[in-house]
Amino acid sequence: MAPVRLDMPIKFLKGVGEKRAEAFGLLGVRTVHDLLLHLPFRYLDASSLTPLAKAEVGSEVACLGRVVTKGVLPTRRGLRIFHAVLRDASGLLECVWPGQAFLDRTIHVGQTLLVAGPVRFYHGRQLAPREYVVLAEPDADEDSAAMDRGQIMPVYPATKGLSHRLIRSLISRHLDSILALVSDPLPASTREALGLPTVSEALQAVHRPVRLADAERGRRRLAFDELVDLQVMLGRARLLAKASRGGIGFQIRKQLTTSLKEALPWDLTGDQRRALREITADMTSTERMHRLLMGDVGTGKTVVALFGMLLALENGYQAALMAPTELLAEQHGATLRGLLAPLALEPELLLGRLTASEKEAVRQRIGSGEARIVVGTHALFQQKVEFHRLGLAVIDEQHRFGVEQRAALVAKGDAPDVLLLTATPIPRSLALTRYGDLDMSVLRERPPGRPVVRTAVRGPRQRTKVFEFVREACLGGRQAFVVLPLIEESEKADLRAAKVLAEQLREQWPDLNVGLVHGQLKTEERDRVMLSFRRGEIDVLVATTVIEVGIDIPGASIMVIDHPERFGLAQLHQLRGRIGRGTEESHCILLAPGPIPRLKAFAATTDGFKIAELDLEERRQGDLLGHRQSGDAELRIARFPGDTDLLQSAREFARALLAEDPLLVRKAHRGLRDRALARHPRGEVLFRTG
Ligand code: ADP
Ligand code: MG
Repeated sequence: MAPVRLDMPIKFLKGVGEKRAEAFGLLGVRTVHDLLLHLPFRYLDASSLTPLAKAEVGSEVACLGRVVTKGVLPTRRGLRIFHAVLRDASGLLECVWPGQAFLDRTIHVGQTLLVAGPVRFYHGRQLAPREYVVLAEPDADEDSAAMDRGQIMPVYPATKGLSHRLIRSLISRHLDSILALVSDPLPASTREALGLPTVSEALQAVHRPVRLADAERGRRRLAFDELVDLQVMLGRARLLAKASRGGIGFQIRKQLTTSLKEALPWDLTGDQRRALREITADMTSTERMHRLLMGDVGTGKTVVALFGMLLALENGYQAALMAPTELLAEQHGATLRGLLAPLALEPELLLGRLTASEKEAVRQRIGSGEARIVVGTHALFQQKVEFHRLGLAVIDEQHRFGVEQRAALVAKGDAPDVLLLTATPIPRSLALTRYGDLDMSVLRERPPGRPVVRTAVRGPRQRTKVFEFVREACLGGRQAFVVLPLIEESEKADLRAAKVLAEQLREQWPDLNVGLVHGQLKTEERDRVMLSFRRGEIDVLVATTVIEVGIDIPGASIMVIDHPERFGLAQLHQLRGRIGRGTEESHCILLAPGPIPRLKAFAATTDGFKIAELDLEERRQGDLLGHRQSGDAELRIARFPGDTDLLQSAREFARALLAEDPLLVRKAHRGLRDRALARHPRGEVLFRTG
């Protein structure tokens, strides 16, 4: 075998091979270096675990024990429950997994299990694990023995075909030889100023901790590196995007913008005025604007964007508004038409449904400059539509754009100023990692006088009453969404549930029109149903989460969400944003299986930023046994809000670095550049010269 190298594909590492390498791929581990950065998500020592006998009813615990008996119990209501009794030195505890009879094939007597979840009382104490890990097979004793000796054991994220134990033994076996290859590109002065250990020390500490505090110190060092790499990419993208346009700066002429201000029947909110000031400052400077306008649905982003567009027009430039779908483009077109009417301006729409000759005519008008405001899908940018003189591009909801694509978007020729819009508020720490290449304006305040959405949580006993309320309201002319969850693992069953519910409602409510929309419908078919709902031909729309984003249905003022406990809070908020777009007060009703505090907290606020923070916190806690969703796929090691200070330092470090050496070509910087590119291979384009 060849000697180990850091960039060597993992399959060549002794003990791995083709098949396991594939499983490692699922964990994002492709090279030996990736394996080194495959960090434990948890450590076990006696102090982090609750002895089985001490697991108290009503508390959340993590316990370790050996399976002494197990089996599947049917209940009277037809639910099959897998149960296992665990034993440790302190005693016994029963664990139950309702509806998961299949675990009988994977959990066996003699195994050592790590379980975590709430303890409840049902004929006795029962732990209902949210998660479990098989720590040791019946024949292996080393783990409990190690723990008994007071050692700290790392627990690694695992996947099918690759158990945590196997990963642990691979890492422990190769750690020394791999560590010998590691060098540290971070200047010692920076490291010392931040009080961080060297990379080797950090890796040693996370994989073989002597004390938990060391492991955490090590993790923070590695998190800092991860954040630096991302900030270097974002910083490069920012440099490219903001490159000077050579003297073109918009001038404030107070023509169209002033007319719009006078024509609006209401005043702008304070947040809108601030955002507008920021946009105007960008547009009048010679640096290119590269800004994100973030605000919940209904906070009034469109109007703000329109002011920017008019500023471009006043200066003899064109402006474009791009939406993710045709339907949304049409909706924007209609909104702009209404707002622009008093100014005797009309938006030009470039849509897929136009005939070839109509499209050609529109392209002509865009090319000649006759079309001053153009609305279309994102394809406007991709298809080679030739603008006469495009000054501002407003791009709505382009989540799929990564950093590199955003940079590519503006790096072309004499590119326009760019304003991105998003209705998904996120906490600042996440915004800085996801959108760190953009300047940001935030709309938090809602315009006064707009109808509110009231949210209520109801239990199973009130189900009939809730549906009766929906029926009455719809007979009275209102429209309602009934949303059911659709989660990947049980997609088929969930889809069936939606279909069954729609059928039931059709039968029970012959006097109402019940529609159904879900993700397996073709886009056109889905659009057809949504349009028919908008026209009021459908009274009740049963839907899976495909309605999360989409066109406004002003008549829809009721939303019932079944099994809201299965949704993340941010997703619930996104769903709720689909109602309350009209003029009447709206109602969102969560049909929960019981009183659930997180749902109550959700019902009590409509502030998207607050909900995003709750959501982030929830994911962090849900991380008890791994299966991590850091809230941002880019980050595997850093954790928020805890690492916010590191983020700040990483940002400053990356900025200073790029200011000194924009392409990181100096010898002292090459290591940092290589590491950043190894972590973000698509970022290669950001470092091309010329
Ligand atoms: P967003 O794009 O952020 O979802 P919109 O721009 O579509 O929000 O605005 C939502 C609604 O609120 C629109 O009907 C708009 O005309 C109205 N609106 C916007 N700003 C104000 C304001 N300052 N006062 C009152 N109504 C406003
Ligand atoms: Mg909008």
